[in-house]
Amino acid sequence: MTQASADRHVVIVGASLAGTRAAEGLRNLGHTGRITLIGAESELPYDRPPLSKDLLTSDWSDESVESFRLATKASLEGAGIELELGVAAAGLDVAKRSVILADGTIISYDLVVIATGAAARPSPWRPGTGVYQLRTLEDSRAIAARLKLGEPVVVVGGGFIGTEIAAAAVGFGCDVTVVDPVSEPMARIVGPEIARSLVELHHRHGAQTRFGVGVADIQGKDGELTVILDDGTRLETSTAVVGIGSIASTEWLASSGLTLDNGVVTDGFLRAVGVDDVYAIGDVARWPHPGRGVQVRAEHWTNASDQARYVATAITQGVDEPYDSTDYVWSHQYDWKVHTIGWRHPGGSSTIVGDLAKGGKTAVIHSDANGDVCGAVTVNWPRGLNLARRLFASGESAETIVEKLGQLA
Ligand SMILES: Cc1cc2nc3c(=O)[nH]c(=O)nc-3n(C[C@H](O)[C@H](O)[C@H](O)COP(=O)(O)OP(=O)(O)OC[C@H]3O[C@@H](n4cnc5c(N)ncnc54)[C@H](O)[C@@H]3O)c2cc1C
Repeated sequence: MTQASADRHVVIVGASLAGTRAAEGLRNLGHTGRITLIGAESELPYDRPPLSKDLLTSDWSDESVESFRLATKASLEGAGIELELGVAAAGLDVAKRSVILADGTIISYDLVVIATGAAARPSPWRPGTGVYQLRTLEDSRAIAARLKLGEPVVVVGGGFIGTEIAAAAVGFGCDVTVVDPVSEPMARIVGPEIARSLVELHHRHGAQTRFGVGVADIQGKDGELTVILDDGTRLETSTAVVGIGSIASTEWLASSGLTLDNGVVTDGFLRAVGVDDVYAIGDVARWPHPGRGVQVRAEHWTNASDQARYVATAITQGVDEPYDSTDYVWSHQYDWKVHTIGWRHPGGSSTIVGDLAKGGKTAVIHSDANGDVCGAVTVNWPRGLNLARRLFASGESAETIVEKLGQLA
């Protein structure tokens, strides 16, 4: 059980999805004390999924960017949320309960919520120019400008973000190659069945893949790059986009004494271990996942949003139960909309409903090693997704979910 405290000063570090939703949630749930929201970016909070989807596949415009803001200055001010944008937190003094900003300002708190998310894992290949990475609005703007040239693009990294960028580049007529040292890079998220179909989808649209071979080096400059693969292949390209995962933004906490291990390690109530007045939420938090029985750092929109709501509730009203995750992720590539709930157990089994080859409505239901359902993936099937989610939440067996989806198909 966490204790409610409606009038304390809550300082939230990180003004993106998790931080903004936590600040708004606190006010909506009746928090009467001060709320300060600190963000390293000078931009008003914005949503990241459109950075690799809507904003890369259409013509970039300031209006389209505005439609992906998470809040306006007026809405935050109206809620009495004090904004400190454009200045990073440089340290946390847990004993003195204060956040130290990069400009030297010290902000005292009663409770602090760490929501500093993650940054793109830096590219190990650094020619002077020509290598792009995607995490921020500025990154997306720069990549969009390159894709519009219609020149060759090599994407390093075949996960969701890399393949979404590849699909966007194909849309601009670019000659696209996706490289990844793993032979089925998307299988970890969606399972091998849908991973293979997604690769075929990319091939049908003209993208090439070089999976199972890594990158040794990238040489040259913007417009004249050579990507050298481990097997000696040289890919001449104009632009390289490196999407090789992310790292939790915890460097500012190095001397805080908090337990840092691939994120801020928390207890089940999302409190930094051993420190009651420090919470961590969103992509930066690594918490004990009740279903999986291990510490997890999820990098999903829904998790960041759900954890923000959970912590706002914990602070204003108290909570009895530890945080439980909905584990919901999506990806849009060409005309495919892929949604995943739960997870795939490496030692489990999967059942397909629908005809993946035709790319129509399809679902794959995953069971764990005991035969208990643990996840599902759907392609282009919103009603199937909703039904699977409902049945999943009510604890139905894999057989029942497969049967009912079959009736819906
Ligand atoms: C291109 C892209 C596409 C995505 N698509 C999907 C999708 O389709 N579906 C899905 O489920 N998820 C998707 N995600 C993931 C999703 O956007 C993240 O899970 C979500 O943004 C996490 O929110 P967050 O607030 O925890 O962290 P972040 O969004 O990383 O925000 C953290 C904020 O903290 C700031 N910050 C960092 N350090 C400091 C500091 N020291 N002081 C102050 N501020 C600091 C950062 O500048 C940033 O603004 C995507 C992510 C990206 C990058």
